[in-house]
Amino acid sequence: MTSCESTATYTAKDFKSEVKPVWCPGCGDYAVLSSITKAFADLGLAPHQTSVVSGIGCSSRIPAYTNTYGIHSIHGRALAVGQGLKLGRPDLTVLVAGGDGDGFSIGGNHFLHACRRNVDITYIVMDNRVYGMTKGQPSPTTESDWDASAMAPPGGTGMTPFHPLAIALASGANFIARGFSGDPNGTAQIIAEAIKHPGFSFVAIMSPCITFREEQRDWKNTMRNVNIEPTTDPAQAARRLMTDDGFNCGILYRGDRPAYGKEKKATNAVSDLDREFTL
Ligand code: SF4
Ligand code: MG
Repeated sequence: MTSCESTATYTAKDFKSEVKPVWCPGCGDYAVLSSITKAFADLGLAPHQTSVVSGIGCSSRIPAYTNTYGIHSIHGRALAVGQGLKLGRPDLTVLVAGGDGDGFSIGGNHFLHACRRNVDITYIVMDNRVYGMTKGQPSPTTESDWDASAMAPPGGTGMTPFHPLAIALASGANFIARGFSGDPNGTAQIIAEAIKHPGFSFVAIMSPCITFREEQRDWKNTMRNVNIEPTTDPAQAARRLMTDDGFNCGILYRGDRPAYGKEKKATNAVSDLDREFTL
């Protein structure tokens, strides 16, 4: 046993810090914090074996509230920081967490390339379809006609919302799931599965902003668990996701692509090519 290993058993509470969250009372992110800490404990991890990395936004405050290693990094750049951390410290469980504005707008390009690079990290996006911290601007996942905030254009943006799960699949993500903050135990199970799955795992968690999107309180009536077998077939996953209404929760896709650094590298590519042309 090395000095870093431990035989102690930790509970979800051990993964929570002493810092009291400043989220609005009723924000969905409280439950997501509980799901993350429960997943770490259920997996038998220790705080010193885990790390939470975030960008900027309401949900990106989460490293302060966890008793793990953590980096509250730069707006939209959490995935770059998280991948670098994992490559430098492959022994750590690295969980990157943030919101829909941080992850899909400012960090959109990092999202695409993290999916295809397939470093063995877990990415959680607490999606409330709004920029909460900056007081209610539409985000990439906001419905095109939403204009209930003083910060939204009259009649809405008119833009087609970003479909993060379909885009993750098209970009090569190895594990794709959706959770709901109103189901913290189910979401903890999904996060634990995502952490265990090799490669880049993406979990979108619908997490209501009760301050700027009060109508999202109704999500508890529209979210549904889909007790389907997660498919390993990207074509089947694509069909499922393209007909998805945004309310199906569960593990929707499990790929079998080896994680970055674990691929079988072609060692003799030139002679293989040569053989192909001479046969
Ligand atoms: Fe949560 Fe919205 Fe309040 Fe931010 S503004 S803490 S997302 S309820
Ligand atoms: Mg948001």
